[in-house]
Amino acid sequence: MVSIVDAEQARNLSLFRPLGYQRNSCGYCKSDDGSASYYTSSVSVRPAHYEALVNRGWRRSGTLYYKQNLQRSCCPHYTMRLEAVDFKPRKDQRKAVNRWNKFVLGPEYIRRAAYLCPKTREEKKSRKSHFDLLGAVHEAEYSNVKRPIDPKTKKYLEPAHRFEVNLEGDSLSQAKFDLFRKYQTTVHKEDVSKWQTKDFKRFLCSGLTRSPADPKKSDEKKLGSWHQCYRLDGKLIAVAVLDLMPNGVSSVYIFYDPDYEQWEFGKLSAMREIALAVEAQYPYYYMGYYIHTCQKMRYKGTFKPQYILDPESYAWDPLDGELAQKLDTRPYVSLSRDRQAATTTTTAEKMSESDSADAEINDEDMSLFDLHMPGVLTLDEVKALDLDHWLLLVHGSFVHMIDLVGWERMPMDNPQSVKGIVAELAAVLGPEVFKQSAVVLFD
Ligand SMILES: [Zn+2]
Repeated sequence: MVSIVDAEQARNLSLFRPLGYQRNSCGYCKSDDGSASYYTSSVSVRPAHYEALVNRGWRRSGTLYYKQNLQRSCCPHYTMRLEAVDFKPRKDQRKAVNRWNKFVLGPEYIRRAAYLCPKTREEKKSRKSHFDLLGAVHEAEYSNVKRPIDPKTKKYLEPAHRFEVNLEGDSLSQAKFDLFRKYQTTVHKEDVSKWQTKDFKRFLCSGLTRSPADPKKSDEKKLGSWHQCYRLDGKLIAVAVLDLMPNGVSSVYIFYDPDYEQWEFGKLSAMREIALAVEAQYPYYYMGYYIHTCQKMRYKGTFKPQYILDPESYAWDPLDGELAQKLDTRPYVSLSRDRQAATTTTTAEKMSESDSADAEINDEDMSLFDLHMPGVLTLDEVKALDLDHWLLLVHGSFVHMIDLVGWERMPMDNPQSVKGIVAELAAVLGPEVFKQSAVVLFD
């Protein structure tokens, strides 16, 4: 039998195993079933495809990919991003970097270096008037620290600490796992038995396909899941888990040694990641979801200027101003919907009518198409896609959907039929990823 997909095509496909729409408990307001999302799992997603999904409100936790129904969730998760080159650090953010650099270099080094390699008047002046993000972020890294021979001691002038940061593959190591457990039990007060190496691996080491295979031998742009490892005097003190996409750096998680909590690694890592985005030309920096009602998340809004993804039009709106004001008064806001409603009163009436009708239903039992989940393709839009020739991976080989027995007679709007399951997946993935993906079922 001739395969319908060659090896090269197969490598460029993302594979999705649909899990469907479910209600779950909410970790923010602690409601039992307040959050509703569409789920799929995958061990093979291309970074470019993930980027397209993120720009449609998706996010991943390990191999689980989900898109929340913001309209029917207690604490709506809004996708946020900023344009890295436009980032303007606040005073407290600049202070955090300067404070860390001072600690790493140490007073003795700073005093002697000022004498042995003094800064020019211009350098001093520009430092006072202007904060150089890239310069500040890298200033205390050991490879950038000037180490002149000190005539007093006849030895190299050494900083107080040797600080190194490297972007490494998302593999598991004992040092990472130990640090992670220390962080979870101390900072998040979790029981030590909660986390085993397999959970750590699932959560933080099984992400997007990574390239290039050997970054030391290639100048190719880094893509996929990476761990940015911070070491002080050779000891691992922090790990930032990053998804690198063609046009964006997405922060997945950060864990650090609680002994260093006073240095504000949340701020330090965000600034470093924005610097990485600027230097390696990933235009956007994604700090994950933004939940307006969650106080703990408000800090994300202090990295400005921040933009929020409209859950319906997928346009990006500034967080500050109109959007933030509206979010203070109601949990679900789509500015594009508001604008549309403002143009015609009939639409507005119709919209509020369908909203109130929707409030009574049990959404888990319904077809996504009847539910009108925001930002999801309609049944007609899915019918316009070529679902018959979508690839299906069964027991290791690809077939077309239409090769399935009875496919043509299956109803698309029945969420229990195979066609219904597949149609819902296509609707939530969107047309771009649909074309470059395959479905995994029956194995
Ligand atoms: Zn909630």
